[in-house]
Order: sequence, then C-alpha cells, then structure tokens
Amino acid sequence: MALERTLSIIKPDGVRRNLIGRIFSRFETNGLTIIATRMHHLSRAEAEGFYAVHKARPFFNDLVTYMTSGPVVISVLEGENAIAKHREIMGATDPKKAAPGTIRADFAESIEANTVHGSDAPETAAFETGWFFRGTEQFSVATR
Ligand code: ADP
Ligand code: MG
Repeated sequence: MALERTLSIIKPDGVRRNLIGRIFSRFETNGLTIIATRMHHLSRAEAEGFYAVHKARPFFNDLVTYMTSGPVVISVLEGENAIAKHREIMGATDPKKAAPGTIRADFAESIEANTVHGSDAPETAAFETGWFFRGTEQFSVATR
C-alpha cells in the first residue's frame, strides 16, 4: 500500500442537487482526506483540456457541454491506495452497473451525468491534480 493523491470532481449534477456534503462524507468515512478543494465553473477550454484523452470518443462534445453546464467541486484526496479506493467508492461509470452503496449507484442520473469523476491511475492522477492545483495548494495530512 502506498500513500497516494487522486483528483475528485463533483460534477454539475451533483452540485446542482446539493450532494456536496454527502459525497465528501463518503470520502472522509472511507479513509480519504481532502487536502485541497474549490468550487469552479469550467470554461470549455478547461474541460476540453482535462478530458483530452477522450477527444476521439463520440460522446466528447456532449461531455464537455455537460461539464461546463454549472459549477463543479474539484478536490485532491490523499490516503493509502487513494486512487483505487476512490474509484471503488464512486462505482462503475454506468450507474446501472455500479455496485450497490457506491456514489454512482445511489446518486447518478445517467452514464453521462454520473455525479463524480476520479483519476484512474497514478499517471492520470498526477496530470489531473496538476491541471487544477499547484503543489503549494495541496495540504498533505503529513504537513498540515
Ligand atoms: P470514468 O469517469 O468512470 O473514468 P470514462 O473515463 O470512460 O469514465 O469517461 C469519462 C466520462 O465520460 C464519464 O464519467 C461520463 O461522464 C462520460 N461518458 C463515458 N462513457 C459515456 C457514454 N457511453 N455516453 C455518454 N457519456 C459517457
Ligand atoms: Mg476516466
């Protein structure tokens, strides 16, 4: 096990439906610490750059439109095995396939408006946390 950092986004449907507290609570009760966070309304360029890996996918344009439809809450989570643990708490991309008790099973509206984003590997976690937060904005559990 390793102490890791991962990027979390509460997507526009989650913010719109007042789910921020309930989602943060799931992170904290599962051993993940919020070490940086802010609310932000993404520009089209920010959303396109963040999701650049999906540029060729048929849903890319709709995804960018949806992600820019309202404010999101962007956070860095830290903890043992944080990347996989966060993905486990989130559940599968398609809420119909997400395990019971996961955020997406409980809250997601559709495969697109699926309430949360989480990095999927150490490389994407490093890129995604860096896309939104400078190192000096991340207050590690070890130093704060
Ligand atoms: P995840 O968010 O679980 O890592 P992906 O990285 O595959 O999933 O996709 C990124 C996001 O794109 C998803 O969270 C979802 O909002 C959207 N998306 C994925 N697949 C589809 C699809 N088939 N139709 C519409 N939107 C999709
Ligand atoms: Mg992904």
